[in-house]
Amino acid sequence: MKSNWKEATAKKLKGDLLQLRVYTSRLLGNNEDLVMHGGGNTSVKIREKNIFGEEEDILYVKGSGWDLGTIEAAGFAPVKLKALHQLADLDTLTDVEMVKYQRMAMTNPSAPNPSVEAILHAIIPYTFVDHTHADAVVTVTNTPGGKKRIQQIYGKNMLIIPYVMPGFILAKKIYEMTKGIDWDKLDGMILMNHGVFTFDHDPKASYEKMIDIVAKAEKYLKKQGANPIKGSKKGKIDGLQIAQIRNELAKIRKSPVLVKVNNSPAATAFSNLPNVKDITGRGPLTPDHIIRTKRTPVVIGDQPAKDLAKYVKDYISYFKKNNTGEQTLLDQAPRWAVLPGKGTLAFGPTVKHTTIIEDISRHTQKAIYQSEHLGGWTALGKADLFEMEYWSLEQAKLKKAGAPKAMQGKVAIVTGAASGIGKACVESLVAQGAVVAGLDIAPSIDNLFSQKEVIGIRCDVTNMKQLKSAIAQTVAQFGGIDMLVSNAGIFPKSSRIADMDEKVWDRSLHINVSSHQRLIQLLVSYMALGFDPAIVIVGSKNVPAPGPGAAAYSVAKAGLTQLGRVAAMELGGQGIRVNMVHPNAVYDTAIWTKEVLSARAKHYGLTVEEYKTNNMLKVEVTSKDVADLIIAMLGKTFGKITGAQVPIDGGNDRVI
Ligand code: ZN
Repeated sequence: MKSNWKEATAKKLKGDLLQLRVYTSRLLGNNEDLVMHGGGNTSVKIREKNIFGEEEDILYVKGSGWDLGTIEAAGFAPVKLKALHQLADLDTLTDVEMVKYQRMAMTNPSAPNPSVEAILHAIIPYTFVDHTHADAVVTVTNTPGGKKRIQQIYGKNMLIIPYVMPGFILAKKIYEMTKGIDWDKLDGMILMNHGVFTFDHDPKASYEKMIDIVAKAEKYLKKQGANPIKGSKKGKIDGLQIAQIRNELAKIRKSPVLVKVNNSPAATAFSNLPNVKDITGRGPLTPDHIIRTKRTPVVIGDQPAKDLAKYVKDYISYFKKNNTGEQTLLDQAPRWAVLPGKGTLAFGPTVKHTTIIEDISRHTQKAIYQSEHLGGWTALGKADLFEMEYWSLEQAKLKKAGAPKAMQGKVAIVTGAASGIGKACVESLVAQGAVVAGLDIAPSIDNLFSQKEVIGIRCDVTNMKQLKSAIAQTVAQFGGIDMLVSNAGIFPKSSRIADMDEKVWDRSLHINVSSHQRLIQLLVSYMALGFDPAIVIVGSKNVPAPGPGAAAYSVAKAGLTQLGRVAAMELGGQGIRVNMVHPNAVYDTAIWTKEVLSARAKHYGLTVEEYKTNNMLKVEVTSKDVADLIIAMLGKTFGKITGAQVPIDGGNDRVI
């Protein structure tokens, strides 16, 4: 661990205390070995003049919901220091009262709620206070004799605080422990099973004390031979097993989740540890993680359903044992899993969730492994962890997200995703909360979508090997497949039957029909394990209303429609719905350049505008309109419909 303080950057802040606080908070927040995903908190005390011209000491403390790595000045809640000192003097204080009185003492009512540790920050008599959950330090505390080791590393100038619940109880404990103490003699505070506090009147000194304390713990671990795990060969992942696990999880949670596979050399080596079930069953790295990861992961062998059912049963008995009668049982599904010999899995309703869980689990694995060299991983007891998991102030952090989107946790594959209807479908699916694998032969697919919810996969849909690889990638990234928009297609050059080029004909059938059959064939076993699985096939107006010169296209699209009808019959028993759309005259696609459009319009003696709206309703049909219909067909509205064909063309007399 090294200091990232840059004198030149700090100088630019011209001694502005709040800006310096932002600067060093970000330095802490951008180091995963110190804090992750909203963990830790920092503060600065500033004397200010209020509107009446009176001087007041204000504690600017990290606001709840902000992340240290990206925090801004607006992320700090300004609270009157005097009020916080008065709260610290109380014998007891409920969470509800604490939140209420802290808010009442704020000088800006639109600022976020202060961190749950605001009172603790207030009673530390230094301008800058830094708090992290540093891996190395907590790893040492989470061992038998952890306190002795901490004393050995840091000597008598380190204040060691036994574990108590964060919030008022912790602040009160430290308040009592430090009465009459000479703060200037302290290098910092280490909270057993929790983290580290440093403080100074100078921002750089407070930050660098933190770095120094962590560096010492890292050095100690190294000296004890507690090195990070050596990676092994990457675990082999069975996609169908992952989809089956995801299916079981959805049953427990009553909603779909994403599953992110981690079969990196380190995760695989960890999963291979002979005592992995025992060591992962003891508890998390720091109590704050429990709201994200639950107390333990599940270890899944050959029978996922059985292992998950056992996890749920154990969770319920843990709840019953610790419930004081005031708590309501949360969902019982695990948040991560170990697959012995294969790696680990992270579960969550969104990519953001699975990323957080994967990051936390990776650091937890490292800490558990290292602590095994120090006598064994010793996490907090179940009762303390339960109190943290069911603490209303922690649960409030999770509720900030708001109502879930309609397709949250669902996974879709869209073919022909680089342009037109396919691209519009990807965008609409993401807007509805789904994650998407967008397949296209065009190289532009690689970087077309910047959202983390989309993976662009270059794929020739007529190539079986490439299709299989695209499915494997999708399952490794998201855990399964619920929806397919079978859209890839070509519009071959116009040719009458008498003049048909054999290659043009065959290519149209290959891409417009056969590739769809192959993809559906490969997906059936995955989709049968999906959540409300549905397929939408993109047909064409040419199916009900063909035209001369377009046999290669019309015949293929008619065949594709027939494929969809048969699929609806064959797959209904597995709960998979198959419906079809027949778009017409969608001109905002790659084929329809300005030149082509005006040439066609001229051919019919129409203006471009008239040509675009040449239908019953006199409306232009866009890719987005078609995508919206497809998304509706994939969703609840069409939940009891299969085998339907819906034209989307503004009304066409030959189709009606
Ligand atoms: Zn903490």
